[in-house]
Amino acid sequence: MRLDTLAPLIENLQSGKYRKAVITTHHKPDGDAMGSSLGLYAFLKHHVHEVQVIAPTDYADFLHWLPGNETVLIYEEKEAECRAITEEADLIFCLDFNRLSRINEYGEIVRNARGEKVMIDHHLEPEHFQQYALWDPKSSSTAELVFHLIKHYFGLENISKDCATCLYTGLMTDTGNFQYSNTNSLTHLIAADLLEQGADHVGIHERIYDVFTPNRTKLFGYCMLHKLEVLPELRTALIYLTKEELEQFDVKTGDTEGLVNLGLGLKGIVLSVLIIDRTKMVKMSFRSKGDFAVNEYASRYFNGGGHRNASGGASDEPLERVVQKFRDTIKDYKEALLAI
Ligand code: 5GP
Ligand code: MN
Repeated sequence: MRLDTLAPLIENLQSGKYRKAVITTHHKPDGDAMGSSLGLYAFLKHHVHEVQVIAPTDYADFLHWLPGNETVLIYEEKEAECRAITEEADLIFCLDFNRLSRINEYGEIVRNARGEKVMIDHHLEPEHFQQYALWDPKSSSTAELVFHLIKHYFGLENISKDCATCLYTGLMTDTGNFQYSNTNSLTHLIAADLLEQGADHVGIHERIYDVFTPNRTKLFGYCMLHKLEVLPELRTALIYLTKEELEQFDVKTGDTEGLVNLGLGLKGIVLSVLIIDRTKMVKMSFRSKGDFAVNEYASRYFNGGGHRNASGGASDEPLERVVQKFRDTIKDYKEALLAI
């Protein structure tokens, strides 16, 4: 992480050079994407005249309580307005992604916009489209990077309660409640600072995790009982869902969040895969343990990527073909999976 490379940006920010800013984040934003974006928004609105958060697509209901959520525009729902705001912006922050293809067709609008671009991210293999970057693949979350930026240049006291709440949400969700290997002592120190700044960890936890609808709970139960497939010889667990099953449980955006973790909770399992027929495409989620680099696998076979232990991918092929391709290709990794 090179905070010093942002010094010219901060100088411009403090001198009032930027009047309009946009903050955007990735397709189907998760807790870190929205937490870091709205955390930065809560801070930036005191330094830039007009700030607009634009999400490329909708996102889970369990993120709608975040402070500032009511101001967010969704590109898919308001294309013309979002395009105009983006083209007028002096500054465009790209949070929690590092390739413009991750924000779909909105990516080319951002690429061609005149505003200076700032990429803040912790995923591997960035594309170079920005003037400024705060990039660290070792960082637990993008929320953590936003925290460092504000604390380093402006001081902890400039993190308001709303900002702390959003950043804590990003930190908490991307570390799986401080469970995954991206968590270290620094992550906990940051969490402590955010609690000091007013984040209510009990309330945040309840609003993110304790908000299942009956349908969502039944979907999880259905998957446990009927869909969870264990391939013990590969230490792998697999769940796949058809369009009809999604309809049966009236699945909404965010309802399948966490489902891939069911497999990883089984003793001895080091790779868990969730494959979902989203109609427009088949979407995949991968989670692994230890040094099994699931992002390399996702990138090689399913046009995807992400982190070493948490990645995603997609395919245009029918669901059955995708599932079969997974079964066929994963066999080649038997040795690596058994070695973990
Ligand atoms: P999830 O399984 O929760 O959707 O995604 C897990 C991680 O993989 C996230 O960090 C996300 O950014 C990344 N990811 C998910 N889908 C894709 C994809 O299609 N392409 C790439 N490059 N990364 C993805
Ligand atoms: Mn993230």
